[in-house]
Formats: sequence, structure tokens, C-alpha cells
Amino acid sequence: DAGSGYYPARVIVDLDAIRANVRRLAQGAPSAAVMAVVKADGYGHGMLPVAVAALEAGATWLGTAQLDGAFALRAAGHEVPVLAWIYAPGAPFAAAIGADIDLSVPAPWALIEVIRAAREAGRPARVHLKVDTGLGRGGSFLEPWTDLLHAALAAEQRGEVRVVGVWSHLARADEQGHPGVHAQIEVFEEALRRADAAGARLEVRHLANSAATLAVPEAHYDLVRPGLAIYGLSPFAHRGAAEIGLRPAMRLEADLALVKAAPAGQGVSYGHTYTTTRETMLGVVPLGYGDGIPRHASNVGPVQVAGRRHTIAGRVCMDQFVLDLGPGGAPVAAGERAVLFGAGDDGEPTARDWADVVGTIDYEIVTRIGSRIPRVHV
Ligand code: PLP
Repeated sequence: DAGSGYYPARVIVDLDAIRANVRRLAQGAPSAAVMAVVKADGYGHGMLPVAVAALEAGATWLGTAQLDGAFALRAAGHEVPVLAWIYAPGAPFAAAIGADIDLSVPAPWALIEVIRAAREAGRPARVHLKVDTGLGRGGSFLEPWTDLLHAALAAEQRGEVRVVGVWSHLARADEQGHPGVHAQIEVFEEALRRADAAGARLEVRHLANSAATLAVPEAHYDLVRPGLAIYGLSPFAHRGAAEIGLRPAMRLEADLALVKAAPAGQGVSYGHTYTTTRETMLGVVPLGYGDGIPRHASNVGPVQVAGRRHTIAGRVCMDQFVLDLGPGGAPVAAGERAVLFGAGDDGEPTARDWADVVGTIDYEIVTRIGSRIPRVHV
């Protein structure tokens, strides 16, 4: 297999940054435990190394959306509580219960399947009842949720489930002071009162994502669930990572595959959407939309080469794109490193810069970076 695994690009993940970010988040939420959200392969950073770093820095829970991630955490030997919340009918609940994975229960069908699986597994399922307090996504709205609560507590009496948590998710925590946040907290409080009145013995009540962990102390409850901020990215549109004491952990770089002279008036890449205006040097970067580089970054994506920032010239292709390195080409040759984004300390672009030019959010930039690019954890 000599040569397999070779890739002229890499994602470098700074685990010290992850640890520092987790500590920063924990300090900002002193009354709560921290669940490190490591879904989507740790937002593209590599789930397992991120989980280790987050636990070293004080996180005591792990959260994955898909069950798959939870099984992988258990297979890697993690014994801390792990919560999974995305699945559909027919999911392997008995295996999840056997692996001691906490399950979100959003609706009656899920409770029915989880109870059946618990009987099969011969032990109670640990469940977190998800109430939709206003996001309009997962969980049940308050009235049907109350029926779900009673059904779950009845199952607890029969030894089929253990109702460990009540939880919800916020729609607009990133919008400072938005009244919708408090409206959701009020519904959550009502759900907690109903749980209390029904005799629930909860271990954890949890509501806060990164933005609420950083900016809404009333939403901290017993457990906070930051994802994005662990990776050092800001959930706020108008405040950067440094401003809120976070350090971006991901750096994406590639080795130039080719540097060549081109005449003035040369069209570049498919459709010739860029044309050189003078004799210049073109550099080919071996990354494309097949690697998760947005095609919307054509003619706008920023890339640093030898300390200078360039803008992508022409269209991003499946496996490559081109930079106009300028006349004389600077002292740049094939093999020179091109930095797409990083922490920003050395003038390199950040994931936020990429998000801004392509009209998306940092979350999408880091998460979409293809799994075929090696992750190097330092
Ligand atoms: N909790 C739930 C239910 C989520 O779906 C997510 C991610 O979207 C998070 C927590 C973490 O959110 P964030 O990355 O904004 O901190």
C-alpha cells in the first residue's frame, strides 16, 4: 500500500486550542457541566482526538447527533455519558442501550421503540426528553411533550427507562438580547415544572449551545452543549473568535501542484470567468469542491501563499483551483504551501473570512472539508 493515503493537502488541528476553548467555556459556565458536541466528525476536526482533548480540558459529557458517532466513542473506550439525538424508526436502540448511550426521545414513536429495545437489552434506557420550546425542529411541543413525559415516567416505574434529562435547543441565541431566547427559556421552565410535578428525578436539564454558553447565563442549567466554540469559532455574526477569547483550531493547507508563467489576457479555469491582465504567474492549488471547497468561492476565496494573500482566480473545479500569484510570481514554486484558512495570527484568512465571502457560516466551512483530506492533530 505504499503511497496510499498520500494527499497534497492537510487539515491541521490544534488540540491545545481545543483544550483552551473548552476551559474558557467551562469558566464561563461555572454552574454547569460541559458536554462537548463532537457531531459531524467533530465539526470536521476529527471526532476522536477532539473528544480526548475536550475531556482532558474538563468536559464530562460528549454529544453526537448521529448514533453512529456515539458507537464510535464507545468503541474508542470513552466511558463518560454520551448523548445521541438523531435517528429514525428502526435505529439500533437495543445496541445503543447495551452500549450505555443516552438517547434523546423527541416523540411517542421513539419512546415506544426505546421501551421495546430496553426489554430486549434487559436494562433500562437512559433517556432525555426533548421539548420543542420554539426552535420548530426536534422534540415535541409543550402539550404533546407533557403526554410524552407521563408515558416516559410510567415506563420508568416499570423499569424500562430512566428519565435522566429534559432538554431543548435555542433558535436565536446568537442574536444578542433577542426576546425569542427568553420566550424559549420560559417554555423550558414550564416543562421543568411539569416534570417536577410529575415526580421526575432528573440528573440534567440542558438548553445552551455555544452562543448561550457564552452569552446567556440563565440558559446554562446543569449542562451546557457547546459545539462551534470548542473549535474556536464564534457563533456571533459581529464578534470574532479573538474578541470572545477563542482560538480557531483548524488550519487547511495544500501544496501548490504547479506554478507557471501565463501571458496577459489568458482566461483561467472553466468558463474563463477570470482573465489575466498582465504577464503573471499562475499557481494551481490541489483542492476543489470534491474536497468541500465551496464552488461559490470562485473569484472570491482568499488564500495565503508565502505571506501574501491572493484571491482565487476563476472557477473552483472538483479537485483544483488556480491563484494569480502576480508578475514575477514572487519566489514561489510547486510545493510551496498555500494556506486557505487558519487561526489568522500570521495574516492567513480565517474560516470566518471564507464564510463571509461565500455567504455562509463558519460551521459550514469547517464541517464540509472532505474526509479524504488527512487530519493532522498537533
Ligand atoms: N445541541 C444541539 C441539539 C445541536 O444540534 C447543536 C448543534 O447544532 C449543539 C448543541 C451545538 O451547537 P453550537 O455548535 O452552536 O454550539
